[in-house]
Amino acid sequence: MTHAHYIDGHWVAGEGAELITVFDPSLGQPFAEFMASSTAQVDQAIAAARRALPAWRNISASERAAYLRGFAEQIEQRRESLIALQMQNNGKPHHEAVVDIDDAVSTFTYYAGLAEGLADQQRREVALSVPGFTSHTRLEPVGVVGLIVPWNFPLVTSAWKLAPALAAGCTVVLKPSEITPLIEQTYGHIAEALGLPAGVLNIVGGKAETGAALSNHPGINKLSFTGSNAVGGQVMRSSAAHCRPVTLELGGKSAIVVFDDCDLDQAVEWIVAGICWNAGQMCSATSRLLVQDNIADTLTERLKVALEKLRVGNPLTGEVDMGPLTSQAQWNKVNEYFAIARAEGLHCAAGGDVLPDLGWFVCPTLYTDVPLNSRLWSEEIFGPVLCSHRFSSEEQALSLANDSRFGLVATVISADLERAERVANTLEVGHVWINSIQAVFVETSWGGTKGSGIGRELGPWGLSAYQSVKHVTRCLG
Ligand code: NAD
Repeated sequence: MTHAHYIDGHWVAGEGAELITVFDPSLGQPFAEFMASSTAQVDQAIAAARRALPAWRNISASERAAYLRGFAEQIEQRRESLIALQMQNNGKPHHEAVVDIDDAVSTFTYYAGLAEGLADQQRREVALSVPGFTSHTRLEPVGVVGLIVPWNFPLVTSAWKLAPALAAGCTVVLKPSEITPLIEQTYGHIAEALGLPAGVLNIVGGKAETGAALSNHPGINKLSFTGSNAVGGQVMRSSAAHCRPVTLELGGKSAIVVFDDCDLDQAVEWIVAGICWNAGQMCSATSRLLVQDNIADTLTERLKVALEKLRVGNPLTGEVDMGPLTSQAQWNKVNEYFAIARAEGLHCAAGGDVLPDLGWFVCPTLYTDVPLNSRLWSEEIFGPVLCSHRFSSEEQALSLANDSRFGLVATVISADLERAERVANTLEVGHVWINSIQAVFVETSWGGTKGSGIGRELGPWGLSAYQSVKHVTRCLG
């Protein structure tokens, strides 16, 4: 594959210095490669987005909505190939790849609906307390936006940014992760198939250098970033240097709080899904299990059985519950945490090691009674590694759950709904699930408190992130 970058309506070969190699993590083998885009090509992409902005922001929002519905339809048409690509490049089990497709389709459909309603929201009169004036509101696109995304849910994280940005009337330069770049190239092919005006959507591929060229560029009006806290900090510094807005969706170390009145079998299912979905490579992984002390031993026994029963393997050669980690770097990182756990003398109830297969597989893992000063208790591992700790009271559970520099999500499991609601209200996070799997609905918000980020995606908040509020005030005199 040579022409990997979509700039100003054309597919072009990368002119950067770095070779991007795309791997199948189940085999640890490369299956595609291309040259990264150069800094000059990032300039060209931003210039194209600037040229396209006046026309795109001025067409009716319902015309933009028609393109978004086209994106949803085209993703549907490419469903099978996108499922296969996610299985090959991310190592996702088939059923998880399907969920990602459905999520992307519903995101484009939802923002098409919001775009259709935009016209009614323009020219909204504002009631003023002083006579002699009128004022109305306009919601305008923020302008050219840079979108930088990670590799764990490539189709989805891009859809969560792309759909509302296009709906709002922004033009876009998207930089996918160098680990899973082919999946988002599909959005370029869809733009081409739909006849989306040149420059409205541009896609540049590459590593940190390409991302930095985009986030440091004076020609963008906003940067929306999903990824690690380390890079998020750099992106925020570049935005600060230009005094421009930024949305950051960063890491997590989320708690799942299990009270002793729960249905244990159901709890096990939700706990396992919260740490093993996408092989634990989820910003929202509920990787800290807080369990009420009188059920802790029984729950540990059941979790051990459930984790050891999971079918871990290559999703392309058989039905599996969990695939490999998506990159060798991630596999090395999780392996390092296994070594730290051994050095810290943690009690390992299940797993605790890599699997001796060809690709980048690790065992679903449970460490119990993990001390609060353990690195595994506080740091984001981004793998199927669950750490548990006991609590004796609701107050203690809350204090342990909130004792984190992150604040993305949490899950509460209890038969006492009043208590569950009370706990949910006190958790310092952006989303709480009560007695539920991690169901994410496009109508609800996504984003964190504390070190998990700034701003919200999805729902109407996801659209607002790409809108600028203007008021037009007139003296009636
Ligand atoms: P990462 O920060 O390494 O990379 C994210 C993106 O930033 C990639 O496209 C990468 O090429 C680019 N990048 C790297 N260096 C850059 C630089 N100096 N300037 C600009 N861009 C640069 O993250 P990752 O390993 O791809 O993803 C894992 C992280 O993402 C985890 O911490 C996870 O929690 C987080 N994440 C958060 C959410 C959320 O919604 N909060 C969702 C998914 C992932």
